[in-house]
Amino acid sequence: MPPSSLLAVGTVAFDSIETPFGRAERILGGSATYIALAARVLGAPVRLSAVVGRDFPDRHVNALANQGVDLDGLVRDPDGDTFFWAGRYHYDLNNRDTLATHLNVLATFKPRLPPTYRDSAVVCLGNLDPVIQGEVLDQVDGPEGAGPALVVCDTMNYWISSVPEALAQTLRRVDVLVVNDAEARELSGEPNLVRAARRIRGMGPKTLVIKKGEHGALLFCGEGDPATVFSAPAFPLEDIHDPTGAGDTFLGGFAGHLARRLAVMGPAALRDPEALKHAVIVGSALASFVVEAFGPDRLWAVSPADLAARVAAFRQLSTIPDGLED
Ligand code: AMP
Repeated sequence: MPPSSLLAVGTVAFDSIETPFGRAERILGGSATYIALAARVLGAPVRLSAVVGRDFPDRHVNALANQGVDLDGLVRDPDGDTFFWAGRYHYDLNNRDTLATHLNVLATFKPRLPPTYRDSAVVCLGNLDPVIQGEVLDQVDGPEGAGPALVVCDTMNYWISSVPEALAQTLRRVDVLVVNDAEARELSGEPNLVRAARRIRGMGPKTLVIKKGEHGALLFCGEGDPATVFSAPAFPLEDIHDPTGAGDTFLGGFAGHLARRLAVMGPAALRDPEALKHAVIVGSALASFVVEAFGPDRLWAVSPADLAARVAAFRQLSTIPDGLED
């Protein structure tokens, strides 16, 4: 059964990145780019909605199209330049400074989905203004005409502090929120992550993933209170070059796995703790590839077989051997 369709919404960007291990200038980046490249590894039909400017080269468009990404919703605005982001990482790669954010064409972007995107089953909302995220959701009828089957969403501290009400409105329409630990604390006003998760799950998303950089990720899901909690490790890598895009790659891998399960199990997959736990492992495994090279360089070439091998390594990493209780 082919996976359900997945709509990746976010930025397509130029990034300039500095890490202790090197630098790269104006390379292809953006949340929608990473989401799409990750989700295509799972075989999901990926549709991309974003805007680029007059300076965006055709070679990037062709490269994404060659990966099978549907680009009917990639708008080129001839009146401005592409979104640009620059960041610098410290030795502790969990910390980065944003050196520049030039919104450029993103400042006036109003997404208008092509009619062929409206039946998307899974919507993956990359980090964007929550008003725009909401406007995208308004345009998705989903496969049955009753809206998308699954909405997975990212956000960041900027939106949490500057437009909390708009974010609250969007969160009411989100099934799975994926944020990092600092964002979870800020959004909930609660320093303890377990209590933060309870509060955030009260805001709309019944499933919450809290990413903790090189310390892995926590999943909170289930109907009851307390939630079912699952802890996934991060893969211990010897060579990490650039963490940029790890969060978005996680999002695309997580949503891509659920697009597969949705096709097989129907909507029950979205509440199934096993499917959700597997989705966290798939997201973590794909994120462990992207950090091995600058920008999305490594992600282009990741195959389903590479992913399967890394998932097996994840299993090795944290399986508790039998006999402990004997
Ligand atoms: P991540 O490392 O997963 O948080 O994502 C990094 C990507 O997010 C980069 O490729 C940037 O182009 C993009 N990005 C950075 N800041 C923003 C922003 N304010 N809004 C949307 N995308 C952003």
